[in-house]
Amino acid sequence: MRHVRVNVGIVGAGPAGLALANVLRQHGISTIVVEKDSRETVETTPRAGLIEQRTVTFLERAELATGLLTNAMRTGSCTFIHQGEAFSVPYADLAEGRKHYIYPQQFLVRDLIAIHGGAGGDILFSHEVTQIDGGDATEPATMVARSTKGAESVEIRCDFIAAADGSDSIAHRAVPESIRMPLRHQHPFRWLALLADVPPFVPEIVYGMHPIHGAAQMPRTATVSRFYLQIQAGETVNDWNDDRIWAALRDVLVVKGHPVTTGTITEKAIIGRSDHVSRTMQHGRIFLLGDAAHTISLAGGKGMNLAVADAEVLGAAMARYYDRDDEQPLENYTRERQPKIWKAVLFSHWLINLLHSTAGDAAASAFSNELRLATIRELRSQGPVARMFAEEYAGE
Ligand SMILES: Cc1cc2nc3c(=O)[nH]c(=O)nc-3n(C[C@H](O)[C@H](O)[C@H](O)COP(=O)(O)OP(=O)(O)OC[C@H]3O[C@@H](n4cnc5c(N)ncnc54)[C@H](O)[C@@H]3O)c2cc1C
Repeated sequence: MRHVRVNVGIVGAGPAGLALANVLRQHGISTIVVEKDSRETVETTPRAGLIEQRTVTFLERAELATGLLTNAMRTGSCTFIHQGEAFSVPYADLAEGRKHYIYPQQFLVRDLIAIHGGAGGDILFSHEVTQIDGGDATEPATMVARSTKGAESVEIRCDFIAAADGSDSIAHRAVPESIRMPLRHQHPFRWLALLADVPPFVPEIVYGMHPIHGAAQMPRTATVSRFYLQIQAGETVNDWNDDRIWAALRDVLVVKGHPVTTGTITEKAIIGRSDHVSRTMQHGRIFLLGDAAHTISLAGGKGMNLAVADAEVLGAAMARYYDRDDEQPLENYTRERQPKIWKAVLFSHWLINLLHSTAGDAAASAFSNELRLATIRELRSQGPVARMFAEEYAGE
């Protein structure tokens, strides 16, 4: 077994782990990022794409945003469709000009890998972390990684472990539930997440409200859109062939006089079984960040933005520890992040309730439909509800 000693061992080369690695490198703090997938896989796997102004500002300050600033589309309004009528909410105008940048997550991951690797940062691809120990703050932390391609194993000793390895984090095994205190919410339905070779309908996000299938169309590039379609819990990808998908999307996203453009569906997955939030994001020398600490629904596009913000706060706290021997910011990490995380969860649940109907009796459906109509009137009037939507959607 090979042995490595670094200041911080980072599990996972997603947006959270890579943003943290870059920030720590800039402070002269040694790290190793261990990623179970190959470099090619992480650089080509599509997921998020909606990046908030706040995230861009942080990345720009950290000199990590060149690719994003050069290539991302910007959008500051979104369209809602209800019963064939479309209306646009110019949320950037209502939120002091804060826009979204549309940039596929895999491109950001590719940029962060190139910058970190180019500056001498160490990333071990195709190695799965199989064990972490770090709950006892009086002992150094350790993690063991095994090659997914051969027999090689590496033991990494470090001061801290940053678990940025997504929703099935290995830290969930190392940090007892009694300490993490996770809270979970089961969604009553699922989402079919699709990528299709379809140019965006308009250069902004389109949300469709419907009594059975809430849906959305999001630009990814000039020729590719991501679609979400609400489906029932228990349904599988096999229940949804392309014809059925396009029929449902046509039903929700149709606007009078504008047929929905169809195209080749290149990816189909079912997502969104449940949200979880760990109420404690630190145990001894182990810190959780990104989806490892909180996995929330896609509505509102908050997950990747929260992941990068966790990295920003944890990176600054670790820098303070190494630069000034000050442990306080590390101890405050959970306390500082929890209100921001719950604010994002709150908004995402508000948006889900607006966009999606749940099965219920006729009276309950009529009641929720009136609530939806009231919200639509408020959004169209650009009054206080529209301003709340804009502030939360655009992010801080
Ligand atoms: C279809 C879809 C669309 C989305 N759209 C948006 C959006 O528009 N805006 C937004 O903000 N969010 C969005 N999200 C959520 C966003 O993608 C996640 O919140 C984000 O990826 C979290 O980043 P992360 O770095 O915490 O984790 P991840 O991106 O999941 O990265 C974790 C990494 O850890 C690796 N790993 C896991 N286990 C191990 C192990 N044991 N050893 C080594 N490596 C390991 C994984 O291979 C992975 O590369 C979307 C998600 C999906 C699925």
